[in-house]
This record gives sequence, structure tokens and C-alpha cells, in this order.
Amino acid sequence: HSMPDHMPGSSAAATDVALTSPSRVVYPDAGIRKQEVFAYYRDMLPWLLPEVVGRPVSVVRCPQGTQRPCFFQKHLPPGTGHVGTVPIEEEGGTRADYIVVRDAAGLLELVQFNALEFHPWGARADAPDLADRIVFDLDPGPGVAWARVVAAARQVRDHLRELGLESFVRTSGGKGLHVVVPLRPACEWSQVKAFARAFAEAMATADPLAYVATASKRQRKGRIFIDYLRNGRGATSVASFSLRARPGAPVAMPLRWEELGRVRRADAYDIASAPRRMKRMKQHPWGDIDRIRQDLAPIAARLAGRN
Ligand code: ATP
Ligand code: MN
Ligand code: MN
Repeated sequence: HSMPDHMPGSSAAATDVALTSPSRVVYPDAGIRKQEVFAYYRDMLPWLLPEVVGRPVSVVRCPQGTQRPCFFQKHLPPGTGHVGTVPIEEEGGTRADYIVVRDAAGLLELVQFNALEFHPWGARADAPDLADRIVFDLDPGPGVAWARVVAAARQVRDHLRELGLESFVRTSGGKGLHVVVPLRPACEWSQVKAFARAFAEAMATADPLAYVATASKRQRKGRIFIDYLRNGRGATSVASFSLRARPGAPVAMPLRWEELGRVRRADAYDIASAPRRMKRMKQHPWGDIDRIRQDLAPIAARLAGRN
């Protein structure tokens, strides 16, 4: 597999990557061109890189723009030079090379290859069997008002806090919110998955009119699906600061919990307003998320013991 020489952080200049077809329209609804997408990612590198570097990552590529078919890809497109890969054992014992971004040039090269969305694993490439982030993906069904999605995120936060776990929130850039729990030390996927499932099912059992924890579409009308399925080996969630291949070029935006009440929709931030916000904020809304020590193992063991 190809591994670039640059070490993480060594700033391979953005100019290493040549942009082709800069004036091709990527978001026809908003008249946004490839050069603007590239400029967005170049400007947001300091925020986005820490979210993706060193993790297996899938990309949503839209070679003909967002209104033509897009492709969710975990393997490297041929022809790249700055992007790394990591061999990962898949179910059935086969090994496949997954995309790993090591630096700025790798990320921008994927953009040059028409990647619009970045979806990292909740695990690092050098330890793919250990989760260092749990994601509760809150998906509002038809007819659910935004205020209820906000209330659901806060309820997830409060329940996690009762268990001794701190969490963080972001807009998905689509319809819902993600509540993210950092884990240090990282934890076996089997344990993380069982915990996330039990957590979601407990919320659905306690308030079945508000929440559902099963994937079946027909139960979602008027309810919020607490999608715990992001939490398995090989599963991904959109990275904070990634664009979405959806109308208006929205962005998945991390928030401070105090800000959540002022945000009106999941796609409130977009390719124009997200960089403005981060210029104003100067600090990551999630602060020191990667410094927090919280060990899931004893908590999960205690909960499992209760059943
Ligand atoms: P929304 O708020 O609209 O739900 P979302 O990003 O949470 O936005 P979901 O459909 O809830 O979207 O979650 C899908 C997640 O599953 C994505 O974030 C992505 O990481 C992952 N995923 C796995 N396979 C695919 C695929 N083939 N296409 C799109 N996403 C996929
Ligand atoms: Mn979702
Ligand atoms: Mn979902």
C-alpha cells in the first residue's frame, strides 16, 4: 500500500495539489463551483484535519456534482499520490486498503478527486479494533419539530452525564444532530456497540412516543430514531466541518452545548457561514475533547451486570 513520506502535521503545502476543472459547477442549486469547494477545504484545514488524519475515512465523491449520482467510497481512487492507505481485515478474513488522510495535501487531493464529504471511523488506523468515539446519531422522522431534536440531544447528554460520560454535539448538515462521546482509553467495538444499543433502547423504552431505537422506517413517523448503528467496526459518521453533498452546501458543525438553543436547523451552517463562524470563534467549539479521559469499560460492565 502507498504511504506518503510526510509525517502528520508536516505541512505539505496546498500548492502541491493541482486543481483541475476549477469552474465546474458542483452545487447547481447554489451555483457553487469546484474552486469554491477547494477554497473552503483549504481554509478549513486547521479545523478539519484533526477530525480525519490518522483514521480510516470514507468519502462521498460527486464527479458530476451533487445533482448527479455520488459515490460513498472507502477505497482509494486510482491516481492519487498524497493519500495514504491502511490494510484492514474485513469480515470473512479478506484484507482491503482503506483511505487514510495523513496531511493537508492528502485531504486536498481527495477534494481534487471530487470528494465532497469526509466520513471517518470512530477508531484510529493503527488500532481499528478500538473505538475512541461513540456517536449517537439523532434522526428525526417525518413531522418532528426541530425543538424536539434539540431536546433529545440534551436528554442523551444528561443520561450520559449520569453515567459519568461527557459528550459533545454537532449539527449533521442534514436533518439531525450527532452526540459524540470521546473514549480514553479506547474500547473494544463489541463493548461500545452493546453499550450504545442498550443506551438507545433504554431511551426508547422510557419514552416510546418520542424515540425509537430500531431501524424500521415505518416506526419513525413523529419520532426520533436514536441511531446507535454508527458504533460498530467499519461504521462511519460525517466529520465535523465536512461539507455535505446536499442543497445549499451545508456543513456538519460542532457546537458548544450552550449554543444549541440558538441554532435553528441541522443545515444552519454552510460553505459560506462556517468559515466566518470559525474565524470569529478561534477555538474549537469542543475544546479539549481529545484530552478527556473517560473509560467506558467499567461503565459498560456495570450496566451489563444489571440485566
Ligand atoms: P442526517 O442528519 O440527515 O441524518 P447524517 O449524516 O446523520 O445526516 P444518516 O443517514 O443519519 O446521515 O447517517 C448516515 C451515516 O452512515 C453517514 O454519516 C455515513 O458516515 C454512514 N454511511 C455508511 N454507509 C453509507 C453510504 N453508503 N452512504 C451514505 N452514508 C453512509
Ligand atoms: Mn443522522
Ligand atoms: Mn442515521
